[in-house]
Parts: sequence; C-alpha cells; structure tokens
Amino acid sequence: MTLNYNKALDVRYDVDVLVAGGGPAGVSAAVMAAEAGATVVIIEQSGSFGGASTLGMVPEIMNFDDGENFLCGGFGRRVHDALFPPCKYEREWVITSPEKLKRLYDKMITEAGVTYLFFNKLTDAVTDGKRITHVTVSAPEGTYAIKAKYFIDTTGNGALSALAGCGFAYGDESGVCMPATLCSLWGNVDFDVLDIEQQRENVEKAYREGVLSQYDTILPGMKPIFPECEVAGGNIGHAFAVDDTKSRSLSDAMVQSRKILAEYETYYKTYVKGCENTVLLRSADLLGVRESRRIHTDYTLTKEAFFAKGSFPDEIGRYSYPVDIHPMKPSAEGMADFEKSIQLRHEKGQSYSIPYGAIVAKDMDNLFVAGRHVGADRAMQASVRVIPGAYITGQAAGIAAALCAKDGCDTHSLDVKALQATLKKVGAYLSV
Ligand SMILES: Cc1cc2nc3c(=O)[nH]c(=O)nc-3n(C[C@H](O)[C@H](O)[C@H](O)COP(=O)(O)OP(=O)(O)OC[C@H]3O[C@@H](n4cnc5c(N)ncnc54)[C@H](O)[C@@H]3O)c2cc1C
Repeated sequence: MTLNYNKALDVRYDVDVLVAGGGPAGVSAAVMAAEAGATVVIIEQSGSFGGASTLGMVPEIMNFDDGENFLCGGFGRRVHDALFPPCKYEREWVITSPEKLKRLYDKMITEAGVTYLFFNKLTDAVTDGKRITHVTVSAPEGTYAIKAKYFIDTTGNGALSALAGCGFAYGDESGVCMPATLCSLWGNVDFDVLDIEQQRENVEKAYREGVLSQYDTILPGMKPIFPECEVAGGNIGHAFAVDDTKSRSLSDAMVQSRKILAEYETYYKTYVKGCENTVLLRSADLLGVRESRRIHTDYTLTKEAFFAKGSFPDEIGRYSYPVDIHPMKPSAEGMADFEKSIQLRHEKGQSYSIPYGAIVAKDMDNLFVAGRHVGADRAMQASVRVIPGAYITGQAAGIAAALCAKDGCDTHSLDVKALQATLKKVGAYLSV
C-alpha cells in the first residue's frame, strides 16, 4: 500500500552549510565551518549535543595523543583543555561528565554563531543531479525545508547520504555490524574497593550459573564518572546484530538491552566487590551504536594505511587508536576474534594518515561525511569511529565546506593545499 502525498514546504533557512546531526563530529564541523566564515545551521533530533558521548552516556573519551604528539589539535584541543587535566602524552582515556560536555558544546556552538535547532530531525534530501539542494526536517512546528550550498552528514549512520542516494557499505561479509551497547548510570559504587580490572573476572561463572543469559566476556565495565557521590558510568553488555537503520531492530535492541542490564545489576551485586549495594540508576535513551553504514567516498581508508603509518598528500588529520571491533557473536569464538582485533595497535608516537578523500561523498558534488560513517573499511572504521577521530574528521569537513562555499567549487575539486593551510592555522596536527 502506498500514499501519494504532496505539500508545499516553507524553506525556513538558506545557508552556506547544513550540518545534520549534533554528535562530536557534527559539533566540530559546525563550529569550525562557522569560524571559517560560513553561515551554518545544525539540526539535532534530540535536545542536546554530543550524540553517543552525552545522549548515549558513553563514559570515556579515547586518547587525544599518540604518546608523543597531540593528534586531535584544533577543535579537539579546545574540548580537551576545557575539561581535562593537561595531556600527559600517555595515550590516556579520559572520563567524561556528560553534563559538562553538553554545556561546553552549547557554549562552543553559540559563541561560533551557528544557528542550532534541537528536536529537528532530518527526514529527506532533495537532489538535483549530483547536488543536494534542500533537506526536509521534522520539527515541533511541522515539516519544513532548509536550503544549503553544502551539506555535512554527521548523523552517525549516514542517514543524509543514504537519503540522497549515495552508495554505502554495511557490516561484515554477511551484512552484520558489531554489537551496540546501551550505556548506563550506577549508584552506590564503592570506588575504594572496586577494582576496575576485576569487574569481568566472574562473567563466565555468572553465565554458567544462569545470572547472565548471554555469553559475553568483553565487559568494558563501570567508570567513576562522579566518584564523589559513588556514581559510575557503565559501558556494560552487548546487543548483537542490531541494524540501526531499521526501526524493528532498534526497538528490539532497546528492550533486549534493558533486560540484560537488569541481569548485570544482579551480577555486580553478587560477584563484584564494592558493588554489593549498587543500583542501576538509569539506562541511556540513545542506543550506543558502534557501526552502521560506511559511505562511499572519493577514497576509502583501509587497514593498509593503519599499518603503513604514512602520509596521504591530501592528509586532513592523523589518529591512532586500536582496531576495536567488538565481538560479532556471543560465543567463545566471537570473544577470541575481539581479543585478536584489539591487538592491532600502534607503538608510541605512531599514527595513521586520514585523507581528504575519505570525507568527500563520492556520489554527490556538495556532500561531506564525518564521524563514524566516513569512507573506511571495517578495520579503519573501528579505529577512527571514536570521539577524537570524530572531532578530527568533523573539523576537516566543516572547514572544507566553508572553503567550498567561498570558492563556489564542488567538493571533489577543492584546493586541498588551502584546506591544509587553514587546518594548520587552527591547530590541526598534520604531517604534510
Ligand atoms: C557503547 C559505545 C561506547 C563507546 N565508547 C567510547 C569511548 O569510551 N571513547 C570514545 O572516544 N568513543 C567511544 N565510542 C565511540 C563514540 O562514542 C562514537 O563513535 C562517536 O560518538 C561518534 O560520533 P558521531 O558524531 O559520528 O556520531 P554520534 O555520536 O552517533 O552522533 C550522531 C548524532 O546525530 C543525531 N542524528 C542522527 N540521525 C539524525 C537525524 N535524522 N536528524 C537529526 N539528528 C540526527 C543523533 O541524535 C546524534 O546526536 C563508543 C561508542 C559506543 C556506541
């Protein structure tokens, strides 16, 4: 059954750059595009910026440095310096307070002069040949349209690119993505007693004893996000084979994840020292999805670049984080595959190069992608997907879109040297 439905929509904004999605990549893109002189609108379907890192309650941000160099220069440096102690260049992961992060993003967006719209969900893309001309948006006032010269897809799952008809890859050879996690908040955690490493020691036993219904020994676990009031952020449990582009799959994953979290509450109380009285305070409203569409771009970043540690001539940033492909199956074999994947990491001072081509959507002339759906194979997606990686690709996409808007060129023919010069000026770490 189909319904033909025609309606004239108001075009409420006409700007240089539209950023779809307000996660780490989207905020970075919007701020940097505006600071580079573009008029920018950012739309976010929820009520705050930060995506997985705030709405999804992810409790940590991975390393900003490679042990010797601060890789996440520019936008990332500003976030780092506003929230965390000075960088010790030890590839440390920093624990985040989602509230501080949300307020910082609010401040950065407003100070940059970006027009920001919460509770505005991208619903469609209108195209003319290889250009997107407008997007349609569902807002509290109803559906309307935004016109822009350039678009940046930072939805996390490449929704704008897919709506515009771009090609993409999805998951492994069977079309399955790595599992998602519904992150959580826990109270009454005695951090004087809790040994972070020991949290996972009894998971096999708990599975054998029927406390945990799923075999899953990979437990990133609880992190002391508010130790002063005994509150932990939890990256606990996996929802396997979720497809976040399908509402049935997403909905079932939310229900399944909440069920699993109740099991972990029993697990922690029963088996983990320091958690005897712990309480599951809440689970996130946004499912933490690690992997979804990978958009076809002018260049696909592959595992070879991870090992080569070279420099692309069109480099827009460098990063270093292991190939973190979470177990694909709740089985001993799935867990072993994860342990093998996570060993793929760099030595101190080493990093990989991220080319401009990996953020330029191949099938459109005015669309960039940034964040966890940049053009990459699975191994590289599993590395560059983390928050500092999203800051780096978001920053480059934002500045590139602003330069395209000044020049009037299409995304494939931007003067990359000019982009690199601007990136260096704002503090990006480049080897070229
Ligand atoms: C469980 C889990 C644990 C993780 N742990 C860590 C960690 O410890 N450290 C780390 O650095 N990284 C971690 N990551 C990775 C990291 O959080 C994400 O990969 C990162 O947030 C990606 O940023 P992004 O901006 O690309 O996408 P997202 O953070 O997913 O943001 C996308 C944004 O777009 C919005 N959006 C989506 N569709 C639409 C639409 N149609 N209209 C309007 N808005 C839309 C969403 O609401 C969201 O705000 C973790 C990820 C998960 C899932």
